[in-house]
Amino acid sequence: MTNIAVLYLDDPLYQPDDDNFMETLIASHMTKLPTGAWVCNFCNKESKFKRNIGNHIEAIHLTSSGFSCDICGKVLKTREVLRKHKSNHRDIF
Ligand SMILES: [Zn+2]
Ligand SMILES: [Zn+2]
Repeated sequence: MTNIAVLYLDDPLYQPDDDNFMETLIASHMTKLPTGAWVCNFCNKESKFKRNIGNHIEAIHLTSSGFSCDICGKVLKTREVLRKHKSNHRDIF
């Protein structure tokens, strides 16, 4: 896979903290097949689970300046990684 398209999220409309915005953005780049599976519009990766493709698109095809942790300021690449990172904080405190 040499020419994977990537969305650059410099758009001022891009609101990483707005889950609805992100879901809509990601959903607009996946297609449901007649078999019920979901496919990534960028690279045709397929999964039975919509969430897997959503995470895939966000991790592989969305490029942003990242999501900063409001607890320690560390910048993570995706919201999924940020969520996991924050759950570590919860264990500590
Ligand atoms: Zn893909
Ligand atoms: Zn943190």
